[in-house]
Amino acid sequence: MMNSQEARLRNDLAAAFRWTARLGLHEATANHFSVALDENGGRFLMNPNMAHFSQIKARDLLLLNSAAKEAPRGPDAPDRTAWELHSFLHRNIPRAQCILHTHMPYATAWSCLEDPEILPICQNSARFYGNVAYDNTYGGMFVDSEEPARVAELLDDKDVLLLGGHGVLVVGLSVAHAFDTLYHLERACMNLVLAHSTGKQVKRLSHEVAAKTARQWREYQGFSEGHFRALVSILDKEDPGYRLQPAVAA
Ligand SMILES: [Zn+2]
Repeated sequence: MMNSQEARLRNDLAAAFRWTARLGLHEATANHFSVALDENGGRFLMNPNMAHFSQIKARDLLLLNSAAKEAPRGPDAPDRTAWELHSFLHRNIPRAQCILHTHMPYATAWSCLEDPEILPICQNSARFYGNVAYDNTYGGMFVDSEEPARVAELLDDKDVLLLGGHGVLVVGLSVAHAFDTLYHLERACMNLVLAHSTGKQVKRLSHEVAAKTARQWREYQGFSEGHFRALVSILDKEDPGYRLQPAVAA
C-alpha cells in the first residue's frame, strides 16, 4: 500500500521528468533521475527503461531497493550502470535524496572544454561558485563496478559533478532542490557559452562577489521549492495525466 510520502515523491519526480523534456534538457530515452523514499536511501524511485521523459507517469516509476545484491531485471529495469550508480549514491550520501543525470546541451558543451570550470561571470554562474566537482576522465559507456565509489568520492560535499565530455550529475535534498539546481546550472552554462561566443573578453566576478552571491543563493529560503511548485501548477493545468490523481482544480 502506497503511503502519502511515496505518492508525493512519485508526483514530484514525474513532474521533474516532464519539465526536463519541456525544457529540452533530456537525451533521447537515456538519462536517469531517482529520489529516495527514506532518509537512509534504502528504497528509491527511478524511471523505467527507455521511457521518454515527456510521457513518464508517477505510477510508472520503479520502486527499487538500493541494498539488493542483484540488479533489477525485466523489460522496465534500468541499465545496470545507472542502477549501480544511483543505488550506491543513495546508500552512501544522505544529502543525495534526489539524483539527476542529464546530458543537457549547454552544460555538456561546457564540460567538453579543456578547462570546464564554471566561471563566475553572472548571477546564475556565481550560484555554483565552490559547489561543483569535476570529472575529466571520460572513458566510454557502461563503466566498471568501481565507478560508483569513484563518483561519490569526486562529488564529496558538492551538489554538482560536471562529467567531462558527457553531462552532469546533480544531487539535492528534495526533487525541488535538485531540479532547481539542474535548471540554473543549465542557465549558467548557457550564459557562459553565449558570453564566450561573442569572442570578446568575458569579465569574471571577483572572488568576494562570487562567494557572496553563492551564499545568497543558498540562503534564499523557499526559492527552489517556490520555483518547482510553480512548474507543478502549470503541469496540473496543462497535462495533469502525469499525476497519480488528477489535481483538484483551483
Ligand atoms: Zn550519461
